[in-house]
Amino acid sequence: MAVRPLIVNRYTRDYCHSLSAGMVATSPTRPRWPALMVASWLSAAPAGAAPPLFDVHLHYNAEDAVHHAPETIIAQLQANRLLAAVVTSRPPEQVLQLHARAPGLILPMLGVYRTPADKATWMDDPDLPERVEQTLADGPWRAVGELHLFTEDRRSPVFLRIVELATARGLPLQLHCDPAVIDTLFEQVPEATVIWAHAGAYPYPPLLRDYLQRYPGLYIDLSVRDQRIAPNGQLDPEWELLLLEYSQRFMVGVDTYRTERWHGFAEVVSQIRSWLDQLPDEVSSAIAYRNAARLFRQRVDN
Ligand SMILES: [Zn+2]
Repeated sequence: MAVRPLIVNRYTRDYCHSLSAGMVATSPTRPRWPALMVASWLSAAPAGAAPPLFDVHLHYNAEDAVHHAPETIIAQLQANRLLAAVVTSRPPEQVLQLHARAPGLILPMLGVYRTPADKATWMDDPDLPERVEQTLADGPWRAVGELHLFTEDRRSPVFLRIVELATARGLPLQLHCDPAVIDTLFEQVPEATVIWAHAGAYPYPPLLRDYLQRYPGLYIDLSVRDQRIAPNGQLDPEWELLLLEYSQRFMVGVDTYRTERWHGFAEVVSQIRSWLDQLPDEVSSAIAYRNAARLFRQRVDN
């Protein structure tokens, strides 16, 4: 998808809404999981020596499950040589269908949205922290997110309590947020671990360098930023410098923010691999899977 420059909060909101637009269109109905359609979209990136990936940003929402059985999703990930994937869902427990079938491949990330509407109001829900605490205690959760939050809500007690709950359990939080949210979070909970989704709301290398320098607990997922990192497929020199400089802090993700995105999965994977391929091997493999494996303490067999 085309990625627009995000200059002010209004644009950030638009972007966020455009991400969610595909999610609200379909209501969950009786699952239709036809064996026939599996073969038609089970395409893989070009075979051969495709380097493995560890995807830290996937969604498997109720409307995705209507069309794609867990087995199909798992086969798709394997066909594209994903060693592991951090997957969240709406409602939160949806992803456990995937995890139950492939516990070594699927790392469930606890989402907090039960409906599409929750995305805009969760930070004002006083009952949410308790629900999160109970769910975390009961399940195989490896992270919390994706949480969408903007500058004006950065001091939400609900948000900060969720940060504390995740951090107390040693779990990273994935945030789709403005830079000011990152500042407030680390000011309040300095020991937190954060994955900044989509390289943040202002994905400019000088800004990212500044944040990476200031906050050792900050990691960056590069999902949906392929056109910025490598316009027309060619690695941008400013991005290249940043990726080399902070090679231990970046990770990749396809971000299946709407159901159609699962159909184009192999294409996005090959875009990611094409810019990774322009980096030195050590840096490329760190960003492709080693950083995520280290962060999630996940043994991966390459
Ligand atoms: Zn996402």
